[in-house]
Amino acid sequence: MTKKAESLMDKITSLAKRRGFVFPGSEIYGGLANTWDYGPVGVELKNNIKQEWWKFFVKSREDVVGIDAAILMNSKVWESSGHVAGFNDALIDCKACQARIRADHLIEDALDMKAEGMTPEDMTKLIAENSIKCPVCGKIDFTEARKFGLMFKTFQGVTEEDKNIIYLRPETAQAMFVNFKNVLNSTNKKIPFGIAQIGKSFRNEITPGNFIFRTVEFEQMELEYFIDEKDWEKLFDYWQAEMEKWLEYIGVKKENYSIRKHDQDELSHYSKRTIDFEYDFPFGTKELYGLAYRTNFDLMSHQNASGQNMEYFDAENNRKYIPHVLEPTFGVDRTVLATMIDAYTEEEAPTADGKSETRVVMKFNKNIAPVKVAILPLSKKENLSKKAKEVFDLVKTEYACQYDESQSIGKRYRRQDEIGTPYCVTVDFESLEDDAVTIRDRDTMKQERVGIKELVGWLKKSF
Ligand code: ATP
Repeated sequence: MTKKAESLMDKITSLAKRRGFVFPGSEIYGGLANTWDYGPVGVELKNNIKQEWWKFFVKSREDVVGIDAAILMNSKVWESSGHVAGFNDALIDCKACQARIRADHLIEDALDMKAEGMTPEDMTKLIAENSIKCPVCGKIDFTEARKFGLMFKTFQGVTEEDKNIIYLRPETAQAMFVNFKNVLNSTNKKIPFGIAQIGKSFRNEITPGNFIFRTVEFEQMELEYFIDEKDWEKLFDYWQAEMEKWLEYIGVKKENYSIRKHDQDELSHYSKRTIDFEYDFPFGTKELYGLAYRTNFDLMSHQNASGQNMEYFDAENNRKYIPHVLEPTFGVDRTVLATMIDAYTEEEAPTADGKSETRVVMKFNKNIAPVKVAILPLSKKENLSKKAKEVFDLVKTEYACQYDESQSIGKRYRRQDEIGTPYCVTVDFESLEDDAVTIRDRDTMKQERVGIKELVGWLKKSF
């Protein structure tokens, strides 16, 4: 990371803690690697992202329905999906400083090439041939790369025996496949149609996570779109465009992300085409989302292993087939991080005494801003508080709203700017006379006087 990038991540991490977006997990006990807790403002941002996603990809469409499946599933699900045998990372240890590093990341960073999909043997060879140094201590003294399972295991029942092993799901996708027939039979969906889910996934990630970019517990928003094989190319392009529209909808700037097609040798064994949406994080250009054409691998594997029929009957053409699948997948936490980075702005702003100061403002898109409106009485005087509370009661049923009468008005504006509140409404002594308030726009800092009776209407027009 360059110094500038490092300082941007430091600034965002520190703002996240100071203002209640994200705290280090289990902090009072020294933390727990790669875990983070969302605070009062962060949970609102995250919930808004999830709600907007659900609106965008499920509620506003006729061809997508949702589910909310159990995190714990029969281990056979993970055997059939290939995760038990194949869901692992290649790790390598530095013998000099004991740092444990993902071999593919070591190669990617040192040689600027993609290493996903390479065998541990090939990675070991490549690292030796290119004399790649340990990024921690600079020595060249590595063990061989070896596979390390990414799924967390636990036991169901009273005895800790192998036959009782269950896994914390490493992705939400499999629940959509195992419920394919249940959804088909309980709705009257016709292909093409999709099943969506938002939920927690778990991966035993051991490398440093870059804040909430890579965590051991995270949330995914996934969509499995079941199709007839012949339509896959045109529908792949369609879903790519939908994903781009989503990014625009939540305000991720086009210049900050790019689309990268996986090379043939990087593709998962079942995929015919995969693209990554890569975001320019301060610590490098990395995967934000993915879109994969998974063929009919998943339904076919579950049919073979469970003995349950996964075929779809196309009544129009009197034809039975196992549907193919397109999978747009979105990380919730990476979306939170990308929107925070996109929103973070430092700019010069005039102060009340005619000078200028640097103001930090989170310019979130209004539809995901954690707090939409702040009600700020100019003083704590009783008659003003009463009026301001009336305004608060009026607005809070329509918009996520905060009431704040602590500290100076300047400090309160600064706080609302740092959590990205689009509108601050101040109630002053004149309000008692003219029944009006002043609305301050987060981005332009322009102020406008609006009658209290017109306030909700004004906000409706502005959001
Ligand atoms: P990476 O290569 O960065 O490990 P991946 O290719 O393994 O990611 P997928 O299996 O495609 O990721 O998961 C789908 C999405 O889930 C990713 O695009 C990402 O947004 C999110 N995701 C995956 N792993 C993590 C994690 N450890 N922490 C946070 N989000 C994650």
